[in-house]
Amino acid sequence: MKIMKERNTILVLGVISIIILITVQVIIIRGVWQQKDEMFNLRYRVISQDALSRMNRQLSSDGFETVRFIISKKCEQILNDSTLIKGDSLPAIERKDLLKYVTLSLNTSEELTQYLSREFERRRFDKDFTPKIVINRFELINYDRSIPVYISPEFANRRQPRPSDTTRFGSQPRFRQRRPQHTSEILVMGGRYENNFYSIDFDYFIDFRDKQKVVLKETATSLALSIFSILVVVSLFMVTYRNLMEEKRLSNLKTDFINNMTHELKTPLSTITVAGKTLEMQQIITNEEKILETAKLIGKQSVHLNQLINMILEISMWERTQFQLDKKKVKIEEVMNDIVNSFKTGCNNCAALSEKYNLKGVSVDLDVVYFTTLINNLLSNAVKYSDKEPVINVEGFTEDNKVCIKVSDNGIGISKADQKHVFDKFYRASSGNIHKYKGLGLGLYYVKKIAEAHGGDVTVNSKPGKGSIFTVTLPY
Ligand code: ADP
Repeated sequence: MKIMKERNTILVLGVISIIILITVQVIIIRGVWQQKDEMFNLRYRVISQDALSRMNRQLSSDGFETVRFIISKKCEQILNDSTLIKGDSLPAIERKDLLKYVTLSLNTSEELTQYLSREFERRRFDKDFTPKIVINRFELINYDRSIPVYISPEFANRRQPRPSDTTRFGSQPRFRQRRPQHTSEILVMGGRYENNFYSIDFDYFIDFRDKQKVVLKETATSLALSIFSILVVVSLFMVTYRNLMEEKRLSNLKTDFINNMTHELKTPLSTITVAGKTLEMQQIITNEEKILETAKLIGKQSVHLNQLINMILEISMWERTQFQLDKKKVKIEEVMNDIVNSFKTGCNNCAALSEKYNLKGVSVDLDVVYFTTLINNLLSNAVKYSDKEPVINVEGFTEDNKVCIKVSDNGIGISKADQKHVFDKFYRASSGNIHKYKGLGLGLYYVKKIAEAHGGDVTVNSKPGKGSIFTVTLPY
């Protein structure tokens, strides 16, 4: 419960930190992206305006001379048509047609576009752009009166230019331009032009199709570094979290082990203490039978105590040194028979034990002493972890060049989650009931170590409430 709470707190804190990190990185990357985007715009704006002034100097033109002449002719023609102009206004349909004509004429004028394209190419810049002309205002001029044809809503809201604002195209615009509709549009020039027949305001934009790609390329290093740093932090967090949890688990196992060991050692020790006190009693000194019985009890408990201490010592020795096995070729069926029979007598027929071997005189390289401990641990667990009359089946057979020994019981079984850990050092599955079934959590660890030292393995298959099957495999 406590571990779960700690685990959740660490997890929540970690996830929050990662989210903060990702948010910060996203903000940084957006900033870098915007910066690169603005730099891109600035770069092309500067070059195009530079090109524009060069064009003005070299050709004394802004690239729209011809089209202005065509528009002027068209306007003159309309103004001369007395059927069209009614006072200070032009019919809506005529206004629409004229605007269409002017827009089309401006957009088909390629002089400036070609000049810019050549200029970009000369400087080894991207020349893959689309020009776009946006008319802000267009008026016909009939002597000193103006006849409005079109005014964009955006332009209408702006400050009306003073006469001094009138400039030649190609110079820096004197009043605020229309904002580009798309972020990919770059404003190259804008301004107003007036002659005797018309007055116009328009903006010339260039739009780079590959701009996103170029900006992405320029941002790639920062983006890659951000992703890399996020990945590093996430992996570090995962590794640290796993280690922390593992450490917590081991430390809890150790605490459990110390509690269990104290409990295990205390039982024989207190029996010996009580037996010693009994021997001191006057009425016992003369009773030979009682003395013998008490001495036997002391001897039995000392052996148990000794076994426990040896097991602990041996395991701590394995940690430091390699397993020393004294292997001999033995007939596995005979060894199994001996072990099971002495277990039966040792535990006073505590379980209904059946054996079935199909080993056809197979010999295995075994350290019989260790192997006996292995099988004994499995058998005693089968008896210990049983809530009814224990029924144990021991089977032996060969499979894929391996000897398999199966010990099945009808005991309390092991949950799926616990099955993953039962072979770990100090692990006790039913930690809630540690005092119901006594133990140190070392028996199966011992089993696994011995099996592995013989080049084999041990696995468990179990269903809670139904029983467990432990399978030991050994090469032969
Ligand atoms: P111990 O028996 O000293 O607790 P073991 O290493 O022998 O330690 O076993 C580890 C855990 O595996 C036990 O605490 C028990 O919960 C579970 N276990 C082992 N053998 C069986 C079995 N035959 N049936 C049910 N549970 C078992």
